[in-house]
Amino acid sequence: MIKVAVIGAGISGLFIANLFKRNKKYQLTIFERNSLINLKEGYGIQLSVNSIKLLNKIQFDKLESSEKFNPDKINFYSVKNSNKICELNISNFNTENCKYTTLKRSSLINFLKKDLEKEIKFDYTISKIEQQDQIIKITFENNEIYEFDYLIISDGVFSKSKSLLSKNQIKPKFNDTLAIRGIIPGSSNMPDKKNISLFLGSNFHYVIYPVSPNGDLNFIALMKFKLSKDEQKDYSLFNDDIFIKNILEKVPHINKKFFEYIEDLKIYPVFVSHDFFKVKNNNIHLIGDAFFAFPPSFAQGASQSIEGAYELFDDIENNTENKFFKNRVNKTKMVNNRSKFNQFAFHLSNPLTTLLRNIFLKRLLKNKKFLESYLGKVYKN
Ligand SMILES: Cc1cc2nc3c(=O)[nH]c(=O)nc-3n(C[C@H](O)[C@H](O)[C@H](O)COP(=O)(O)OP(=O)(O)OC[C@H]3O[C@@H](n4cnc5c(N)ncnc54)[C@H](O)[C@@H]3O)c2cc1C
Repeated sequence: MIKVAVIGAGISGLFIANLFKRNKKYQLTIFERNSLINLKEGYGIQLSVNSIKLLNKIQFDKLESSEKFNPDKINFYSVKNSNKICELNISNFNTENCKYTTLKRSSLINFLKKDLEKEIKFDYTISKIEQQDQIIKITFENNEIYEFDYLIISDGVFSKSKSLLSKNQIKPKFNDTLAIRGIIPGSSNMPDKKNISLFLGSNFHYVIYPVSPNGDLNFIALMKFKLSKDEQKDYSLFNDDIFIKNILEKVPHINKKFFEYIEDLKIYPVFVSHDFFKVKNNNIHLIGDAFFAFPPSFAQGASQSIEGAYELFDDIENNTENKFFKNRVNKTKMVNNRSKFNQFAFHLSNPLTTLLRNIFLKRLLKNKKFLESYLGKVYKN
């Protein structure tokens, strides 16, 4: 038996665990820091066809169709006057079984964890990683020690395992952006409840898309915002009503009443990666946000986490895991450049450059060659 440890029961860890679980030669343990997996949150996630194709390998296509949505279009609007700028037919990249999908994050996690109840150990926070020959020894804060042949690190953007291995050298950075998340109830009179609406404003954009059978919509906004070093570390600030109120008052051109509709509104700082970290040991690998966290403006974090997890599993199966790091770095750089460019273009504030952007956007979104190169290359795996 090949003993495999997965650190972190998020999207990437649970997906790779499903792949290992399907092959009897692996003995799998997933260590999760929290005492349970929170399935209460109603927030959404977008999955492009590259990840749907891989999720279908573990029967995602069998998930109740009422839990997932297949928007046909992304409609672009101006935040300033709510006028429509143009549209992107996202379903052009769909195939019969792989369609651009939006759903609740909790539906995805619930699907990913359903066959792994026995393998997940809760309340385990890693404290030490030692490598002796080919065996990897892991110590947890409760002083329990385990030995494995493979260690898969999927403990998210603030990966403690990566900090332990890199001796705190590689850390994510605040990208001067706040994320504002919430749910718009189905009862609201939003114009388009079937597609993705993307509103572009000055140093600010937001996205609304369907997540629930009762018509609830996910709201996610990204706003440029400076925080001091102390504010970046102080998570309690983001539970402080006055701090939240001050931030919402800075949101440009949105009717303040709009925020009163939004339920479960939460604000948090967005941290992204700037460097890659290559582990010397060939049997220790990072995936998901622990490998690299993108700016969220291309909605590719989860899809790339799933893609990376699949590539790593495939390489381990075929004894070609030394290829994994180089290939993933190449794809990650491509997605990261597009994510940064999207954020730049979505947030333009000068009226002239905004006008030019809108003219280009209208043309480019009808140009097949451009779409194939800008989106098609990312959606291909
Ligand atoms: C505002 C915002 C919007 C986004 N929207 C989208 C979107 O629409 N589409 C998309 O594709 N992506 C999106 N993403 C990105 C996506 O959410 C992430 O890329 C994805 O969740 C990464 O999955 P992961 O498994 O690597 O990490 P996570 O999902 O963060 O999971 C990490 C797990 O590890 C556990 N853990 C942490 N530390 C330890 C430890 N020391 N020991 C043990 N366990 C530990 C955590 O509790 C958690 O369960 C968005 C991100 C942001 C910030």
